[in-house]
Amino acid sequence: MADRDGFIWYDGKLVDWRDATTHVLTHTLHYGMGVFEGVRAYETPKGPAIFRLQDHTDRLFRSAHILDIKLPFTKEEINAAHVEVVRANRLKSCYFRPMAFYGSGKLGVAPPVGDVHVIVAAWPWGAYLGEEGLERGIRVKTSSFTRHHVNITMCKAKANGNYMNSILANTEATRDGYDEALLLDVEGYVAEGSGENIFIIRKGKLYTPDLTSALEGITRDTVVQIASEMGLELIEKRITRDEVYSADEAFFTGTAAEVTPIRELDNRAIGSGTRGPITTEIQKRYFDCVKGLDPAHEEWLTYIEQ
Ligand code: PMP
Repeated sequence: MADRDGFIWYDGKLVDWRDATTHVLTHTLHYGMGVFEGVRAYETPKGPAIFRLQDHTDRLFRSAHILDIKLPFTKEEINAAHVEVVRANRLKSCYFRPMAFYGSGKLGVAPPVGDVHVIVAAWPWGAYLGEEGLERGIRVKTSSFTRHHVNITMCKAKANGNYMNSILANTEATRDGYDEALLLDVEGYVAEGSGENIFIIRKGKLYTPDLTSALEGITRDTVVQIASEMGLELIEKRITRDEVYSADEAFFTGTAAEVTPIRELDNRAIGSGTRGPITTEIQKRYFDCVKGLDPAHEEWLTYIEQ
């Protein structure tokens, strides 16, 4: 990823892609204390538009607040940085990676307070779990790794270090031939995917785990609003893995994963073992929102004039 043309917003300036580097004694590289976001912009009839930018920036700042990291930029500056990188890299659609990290001021567990850096990078990125996954659904395996306990690392923060757990789970599942992992919480209830929230559908009702041990996903929130517009009943509750096995439909949500149907969990077909009809409708409405085809949700889009 390092060797390509383009620009990355780095501490307030656009820096050549290949020069956007840090020292090997960077604190966050050693201990994982940093916060980040994953944001997308889509091509719309009115040019590229960033989806729910303010909500992502708000979450970045919430994550930093939870970890007591003082960000040296305002929300407005971070929002503007997203727009700048789309323009500078002449992107039509992209994935963004904003991240705040401690610099190399000093090592040791106590962080170099005041030495906080922020980047916003953007590059074209297709379907995270594959185009085929979006259509046919993916095969998921319950992970042997447990999702973080709320008092170990805090799940409301999208924190760099939290993703060791995601990487372990995802690697285990994909090595075993599955597409993604499903993590359970410390009590054994369904928490989330390695980078996605989960929904199941049974008898026409939508269920999703409460947010105790899961990230407060922005796509999850988008789907909650779409479901309400479709007149679907939504129940937030603890979900067990056997409830997923016996669901009629299931899907993951995430900025990267978008709305990806789950066709199998632990080798058991979910419903018909294909993308179900309600998932199909939610997915369609989601893509209409992000691609600027749903006039009711223009407020979610930050258009970029090029
Ligand atoms: N859970 C985890 C662990 C994630 O990494 C993500 C991706 N950010 C999500 C859920 C979904 O969040 P969002 O819809 O805001 O991308």
